[in-house]
Amino acid sequence: MTDVQAMRPHEEATEAPLPADATLAFIGRIRTPWAAREDCPRQGSLDGPECRIELAPPWDAALDGIERYERIEVLYWLHRSRRDLLRQNPSHGPAARGTFSLRSPVRPNPIGTSLARLVRREGPVLVVRGLDCLDGTPLIDLKPDRCAYTPVAPERDGPKA
Ligand code: SAM
Repeated sequence: MTDVQAMRPHEEATEAPLPADATLAFIGRIRTPWAAREDCPRQGSLDGPECRIELAPPWDAALDGIERYERIEVLYWLHRSRRDLLRQNPSHGPAARGTFSLRSPVRPNPIGTSLARLVRREGPVLVVRGLDCLDGTPLIDLKPDRCAYTPVAPERDGPKA
C-alpha cells in the first residue's frame, strides 16, 4: 500500500505514471518499536532501541559470516511513502527543495539506508540498533559497512570477505 499524503505549499508532483512496485525481492521484514511515521526518528542512532531484522527463507542462509561485522548497512523499502514529488518541503525548513537534495522518505524509488550496529544474531534474525523505519518495513538488502574494507575496519575477526 502506498499512502498519498497531502501536499504542502510550494510542493510539486509529477503525473508521470509510476510503477506500483519495483522489481525487487523483499527478503524479510524489519520489526521496530514505531507504528506511525511521526514516531520514527528522522535518522537512526547507533545507541537507539533494539530492532529486529527478520530474514525470510531462503535468505536466512545468506547471513553466514555476518557476525564478523560490528556495523552493517541496512537497505529497506519505505513502503508507505508517496513517490511522485519532484519538489517537497523538508520538515526542518520553510522552502521547497528538489527531492534529490533531501533524505526524505518521499522519492521515486523509496529506498532507505541506515548504518546499524549488529548487537547479536538469533538464527534468521539480526538484532540491531540504528534504524529509523516503521514496524513491518520490507527489507531489501544487507551489506557490511563499507568502512570494513579500510585499515580502520571495525571487523571483529577473520579475513575480510
Ligand atoms: N535513514 C534512511 C535514509 O536516510 O535513507 C531513511 C531516512 S527517512 C528521513 C526516515 C523517516 O521515514 C522516518 O522518520 C519516518 O518518518 C519515515 N518512514 C520510516 N519508515 C517508513 C516506511 N516504511 N514508509 C514510509 N515512510 C517511512
